[in-house]
Amino acid sequence: MRKYFGFLVLLSVMTSVGAQDSFTRQDSLRGSITPERAWWDLTYYDLSVHVMPESRSLFGTNTIHYTVLEPQTRMQIDLQTPLEIESVVQDERPLEFVREGNAYFITLVKPQVRGAHEALNIRYSGIPLEAANAPWDGGFSWKQDSKGQPFVATSCQGLGASVWWPNKDHMYDEPDSMAIRLTVPKPLTGVANGRLLKTEEAGENRTFHWFVSNPINNYGVNANIAEYTQYSETFSGEKGSLDLDYYVLPENLEKAKEQFKQVPMMMEAFEHWFGPYPFYEDSFKLVEVPYLGMEHQSSITYGNGYQNGYLGRDLSGTGWGLKFDFIIIHEAGHEWFANNITYRDIADMWIHESFTAYSEGLYLDYHFGTEAASAYVIGTRANIRNDKPIIGTYDVNSRGSGDMYPKGANMLHTLRQLLEDDELWRSMLRGLNETFYHQTVTTEQIESYLSEKSGKDLSAFFDQYLRSKWVPNLEYRWNGNILEYRYQDIVTGFDMPVRVFADQEVHWIYPTSAWKQTLFKKKPESFEVDSNFYITTTAQ
Ligand SMILES: [Zn+2]
Repeated sequence: MRKYFGFLVLLSVMTSVGAQDSFTRQDSLRGSITPERAWWDLTYYDLSVHVMPESRSLFGTNTIHYTVLEPQTRMQIDLQTPLEIESVVQDERPLEFVREGNAYFITLVKPQVRGAHEALNIRYSGIPLEAANAPWDGGFSWKQDSKGQPFVATSCQGLGASVWWPNKDHMYDEPDSMAIRLTVPKPLTGVANGRLLKTEEAGENRTFHWFVSNPINNYGVNANIAEYTQYSETFSGEKGSLDLDYYVLPENLEKAKEQFKQVPMMMEAFEHWFGPYPFYEDSFKLVEVPYLGMEHQSSITYGNGYQNGYLGRDLSGTGWGLKFDFIIIHEAGHEWFANNITYRDIADMWIHESFTAYSEGLYLDYHFGTEAASAYVIGTRANIRNDKPIIGTYDVNSRGSGDMYPKGANMLHTLRQLLEDDELWRSMLRGLNETFYHQTVTTEQIESYLSEKSGKDLSAFFDQYLRSKWVPNLEYRWNGNILEYRYQDIVTGFDMPVRVFADQEVHWIYPTSAWKQTLFKKKPESFEVDSNFYITTTAQ
């Protein structure tokens, strides 16, 4: 019995090693809702950080407010090396803690009563991880502007906000609001999220008091430090007057005033498709940084060099990608899909990236028409690799394939074709943002919403595009005036209808894994499968 059991264990180890990833206990501590996280509900972060660019170090405090859901005494807080927690205090009483890698387990002394609102204060310091390749390999970017002044920014998606401040580093739980105070040496300005309430001077330093009055995901919190210049405008939107604030290096002010004319154009297009900007109370900011960009909530960071395209390139190869500044449009699209509707687990990151990659097309659709949008989205297929599924592994902080961008956008574009009703499609995109307003969600919630609103069972559709790496292949042949066709490379039950053009006439066919036939009046001289559907075809 024992031997048999051992054999099974060995087999399962080999299978998991043979698969693409293996995971550690640290991955589970980081990526799952551990018992030490589950018993308390985050309500408020009160974060103060003093950043010293000269020594590339920082110190700070975070007061974490929470509601007790289940009475427990062990709490997990995350902070990544080489930063260290110095003390944890609750009700003026220092608490003991043990460290396991990047997770700290704090033993609470005060009885934790169900429903009670509590807080604890964490003091920390050190030299934070420097970003190796921001924003993908994040941390602190310690750069300089052309005058040699510090030009500093944080980025931490995936890596986690605990790379620069102590928090509950899992996406499922967000505070209802947050205070961020950045202390930096003069003459630098510290820009975080939300609204600037006040600035305080103390000796050589200034403290910038920011307040976010909405729920915020932890990787959305950011600190940007430079000798910024600032200008503003207001946008008249669906919920009234929205402040647009721009923080740029003085040397780029004129370029910014030209390039950032796309911001109100973006806001108009996205409010049309997705509904009101989700953070009117916190304003919208575009903040120049020394890396490409990131969707920091109400504080989109920008480093695209004041040019259209993705660092000047068109990701679609069609020309349409040069009609807009990729970073302004893409990162701001995330205000709806990432900051308003947020994944609970990074395995479901397609919820952020597929909708946002598709938003690039919708921006074109609004300003340049549906044909331009379709050409752009179809053009981005050149970047699809079909290397592995779009959904990653749950509970270990693991994202799926980078195909979540172009393939995910093409999946949504295909879904739009199935609806044959752009107003319904728009109402679904707006409905998602209303239904899941300021929430963290799972793939299943998004799938069932789209199935319900479209009146179609989309489960095999999503299984195909999100959970398998295969692209449906439509195999067809003509037998006289009979079209014979079937799908290959599909998951069980995949039966997506497809639009075809026979002598320019529109027809729908209903392929499955079995050969089917459709009788035409005569064999058409021209026959084409609608290229808006993301499938491949093989004509026999
Ligand atoms: Zn993105």
